[in-house]
Amino acid sequence: MTASAHTTARLLIVGPQGSGKGTQGVRIAAAYGIPVVSTGDIFRANIKAGTELGQKVTAILDAGDLVPDELTSEIVRDRLSQEDAANGFLLDGYPRNTHQVEHLDAFLQERGESLDAVILLDVPREESLTRLRLRATEQGRSDDTDEAIAHRLDIYEHETAPIISVYEQRGIVDRIDGVGSLDEIAERIVAALDARGLRVLV
Ligand code: ADP
Repeated sequence: MTASAHTTARLLIVGPQGSGKGTQGVRIAAAYGIPVVSTGDIFRANIKAGTELGQKVTAILDAGDLVPDELTSEIVRDRLSQEDAANGFLLDGYPRNTHQVEHLDAFLQERGESLDAVILLDVPREESLTRLRLRATEQGRSDDTDEAIAHRLDIYEHETAPIISVYEQRGIVDRIDGVGSLDEIAERIVAALDARGLRVLV
């Protein structure tokens, strides 16, 4: 049975730190012709550029804490209102707790929209930790200290993991085995989206 084809691709990718969601998110978004909306990237770009927002969130990011929900949701609303996100986008790093799910739901409902699929990257904790340590030496991100990593993983477990069951109840979660080569994982994701009738938009 083939699902009926969608004309939109509104996606969310979730997974613990080190699951590779950033990397896969970029690949999937490019394949589907949709922009990636990564809240972490938006905050880091603002910090780098020294904007008012950047100054406000520097210490929060360094500690591995969450930026306040209202502020984060406002930034995402602005970004999703841009024209390139009209028919699709891939959210990475947002929503990160159930409040943010409510904010996103309200915004999408106002527009008569909803998420088409949630890609959940499943990676054992040991594997995530190994990848994070590697990234810490390669990229030198200021929140990749042992302490901040442990704190972010705790937040993931307690605040972010619960959003998965919310989306599971809506029947839109695709659980993807996140261990394998980059190509293998990307193929698994595309196969899952394809089975939902999601087609490349470009
Ligand atoms: P990671 O998934 O490795 O923690 P991200 O790039 O997704 O990295 O996020 C980096 C930091 O940006 C987070 O630790 C947090 O401080 C902030 N951040 C990103 N997304 C959100 C969000 N949705 N809500 C609040 N803070 C966020």
